[in-house]
Amino acid sequence: MTHPFRASLAAPDRTVLPGLCDAHLHVYWLGEQITRQCDVSDVRDFPQLFDRLQAFAAERPTGYLIARGLDDQALREHRLPYADELDAHFPHRPVILIRRCGHIGILNAAVRHLLPAATPDARGRIEEHAFWEVLRSLPKPTDAELDAAALAALRLARSRGLTAVGTILEQPRQLASLVRLRLAGLLPVRVTAHPPGDCLLDLHKVGMLTGFGDPWLRIGAVKYFADGTFGARTAWLEDDYTDAPGQRGQDLFSASNLAQHFQTAHSLGFQIAVHAIGDAAVRAVAHALAPLCDGHNPRRHRIEHVSLCPDDVLEVLARNRIVAVVQPQFVPSDSWLEQRLGPRVKHAYRFRALLDAGVPLALSSDCPVEPIDPLATLAAATTGNPWNRDGALTHDQAVHAYTHGANFAAHADTEREALPDATVLDHATRTLTAYVDSSAP
Ligand SMILES: [Zn+2]
Repeated sequence: MTHPFRASLAAPDRTVLPGLCDAHLHVYWLGEQITRQCDVSDVRDFPQLFDRLQAFAAERPTGYLIARGLDDQALREHRLPYADELDAHFPHRPVILIRRCGHIGILNAAVRHLLPAATPDARGRIEEHAFWEVLRSLPKPTDAELDAAALAALRLARSRGLTAVGTILEQPRQLASLVRLRLAGLLPVRVTAHPPGDCLLDLHKVGMLTGFGDPWLRIGAVKYFADGTFGARTAWLEDDYTDAPGQRGQDLFSASNLAQHFQTAHSLGFQIAVHAIGDAAVRAVAHALAPLCDGHNPRRHRIEHVSLCPDDVLEVLARNRIVAVVQPQFVPSDSWLEQRLGPRVKHAYRFRALLDAGVPLALSSDCPVEPIDPLATLAAATTGNPWNRDGALTHDQAVHAYTHGANFAAHADTEREALPDATVLDHATRTLTAYVDSSAP
């Protein structure tokens, strides 16, 4: 069923798609990175890293210097810098390095002096909740800075060919920022906002529910974390990391009493979204969500990442129609995964197996963990992975999961499919252009 507007865009050298929707990214992380932080995602060794930091520090001589996107696996040194290496270059300026995954930070001595409650190890390294507490304790951006960050990120999303995004929120002020942008008519793409789980009762008190809003801005799921990441070795595994005997990652599921939180969120009318990467995390979350799904999961509870999924867990997801929100670009980025997981790697990134089993599938970038690059996302989704045969989607399946699938995960499929929004692929230039209908109120 093609909308007349979409039909009008057709031309021999173009493919007209329904508007692409990225189901899971972080608008405020990305926006802060663009507007206020030093991007080090492309540096390849320590000298280049320190040059980049020095240049940034010269441009912005005061305040915290925050560098984001560092990928130790891509560095010639194959590790993150230690705090004393940062201190040698920045003895007085507080510097925070954030690993690509966002789950590990390195704090130099000047930061530890300003934030004595922070508890990094001897090398300055701090992980997961303890690290996020550090980030939360930094000077807060003003409302204007928040709005500018969101606009920068959302404009980038539109320029890359997206017409809609689902954004994970880290704090409630970000929701107020999105509401301001909506009221000012400034949102460049349609947004579903997924507030953090610890906002649940506040949202409930003011009568908020999943689905509240309009076609430009809606409240989506409340978001929880069941574990960390493979890169940080904090993803929660059923058996030890192959390259780190004795370590199985972090069980945030039990630590945060998530099963109880799911019950509450569900009974208050919310959709639930849970970060789960390791097999133990995916299993625990699948079994905790299953009783809330009533067989067909009308609330569309979803698991973000579903990175390591043994057959019997996949079966639980399929039987309960639990939505899988996956990030195909993780596959090329996690090229080292077999060293970390050993033979279990055969259960990693099984996009096709999930879909074939009947699991509703949505694609996303998790930007800024990966760049917003829809063609790269689709290419990775159709390439699959080197570890199993059930990883690759067909081209049509990938596009469907990046349009209908992502909108379905946001409860927005019916609404958005009635709109003329479109993404046009120009074959000659390999570029995407987003058309977002602004005639609707
Ligand atoms: Zn994320």
